[in-house]
Amino acid sequence: MRETAWMMSNFTGREPMTRREVLKLLGASLAAPLFSGCATSPVTGETIFVGMSEAQEIALDRQLAPQQFSLDLGPIQQTSVNAYVSEVGARVHAVSHRPNMPYSYRVLNANYLNAYSFPGGSIGTMRALVVRLDDEAQLAALLGHEIGHVNARHSAQQQAKSLVAQVALTALDAATSKNDWGQFLVQGGSIGASALLASYSREQEREADYLGQRYMVLAGYPASGMARLHQVLLEEEKSQPGLLETMFASHPMAQERYQRAQWLAETEFADSERFPVQRERFMDRTAPLRALRPTIERCGRGEEAMGAKKLAEAEQHFREAVKLTPDDYAANVRLAQTLLARGRLDEARAYAEHARAVYPQEAQAHKVLAATALQQRRFDEALIALETYDRLLPGDTGITFLRGVSLEGLGRRQEAARLYADVLQRTGGRGQAAAYARQRLVQWGYLR
Ligand SMILES: [Zn+2]
Repeated sequence: MRETAWMMSNFTGREPMTRREVLKLLGASLAAPLFSGCATSPVTGETIFVGMSEAQEIALDRQLAPQQFSLDLGPIQQTSVNAYVSEVGARVHAVSHRPNMPYSYRVLNANYLNAYSFPGGSIGTMRALVVRLDDEAQLAALLGHEIGHVNARHSAQQQAKSLVAQVALTALDAATSKNDWGQFLVQGGSIGASALLASYSREQEREADYLGQRYMVLAGYPASGMARLHQVLLEEEKSQPGLLETMFASHPMAQERYQRAQWLAETEFADSERFPVQRERFMDRTAPLRALRPTIERCGRGEEAMGAKKLAEAEQHFREAVKLTPDDYAANVRLAQTLLARGRLDEARAYAEHARAVYPQEAQAHKVLAATALQQRRFDEALIALETYDRLLPGDTGITFLRGVSLEGLGRRQEAARLYADVLQRTGGRGQAAAYARQRLVQWGYLR
């Protein structure tokens, strides 16, 4: 099993000091007070250890999900497809053990094969995965699996994973050590942070599969849809292993999970085979997204190359994606991010500006624009982009810090000082950004 020592110690009933120490050591500054105790599993009725109350699950969800969704470039531009996925999700969660959680569903613009859920019921699935499905039963299986994690309170049972919040601070430290502001934003925009989310145990994955299958049957789908979902993923794993992220890629498990789903479909859930898979409805309602499949596949290869730091190769893929679909937000942002990482600032800026024009309400294009502007010392433009980003995705201390840097660059010392003081407070003085902020405040006579 994967429980860490500190979780074990809580299991044995010792006071939760260890948890605090671990969180403190890692510098996590979650707003919610710590909670630990036992609860009854909504699913099995057995007593389980949970690190969060239900209210805290929802609060953590609201705090973290928007950040992660934006790292995956936000909901797809095809809003009718999002609405359809939400309808299918609602059908499935209505028959789950926790039908009253504030569920929400998004197909996200990222192009690797994954889906994930936050503890309050915010569920995201990548567009690359949706276009590989053949019918609604498979989609219901996919959403059912995520709804299963929420219902069994798997996240609440591993609060250590809430250290997702830690990522931003770490990146900030890495970059400020070189006083390379733009670089911080490059790292902050890296892909695959969701890997942090998907670190459930094998037992939890099995439980989510089982619950997902049970819910989809109650919602009127044939249970074999879960087996066929795993089949799709097994095939993808063979042809393009790099695209498959952690949700499904506990690699030795993939085959086993497929077989188990198949067996359950033939035994416990055999009656459900009379239900329709709703292939036509799926094809019809997802058509606007499936039309983009060649673009999505190019982007997927680009993201894979990006992840392997093969930037020249990534650039090629994203250029082809932009050629195929000039107004695709994801292709333009990813190309801009790649060009930024290669130091080609003017080109990066041009693609980021186009991305912003086609989808102004999503945050990441503004971040690329801020990064290019900071590196080119165009502090006025950096400030506008950072302020927009902060409005779309509030609460990122790194962004507050860089707004301070921009104001300092513009000679607006008093306003910069206010933001630096804010950074000091929010980081508890920890880290190199805080050190920089303190140094300035001392230099300017605000601190001694
Ligand atoms: Zn899972």
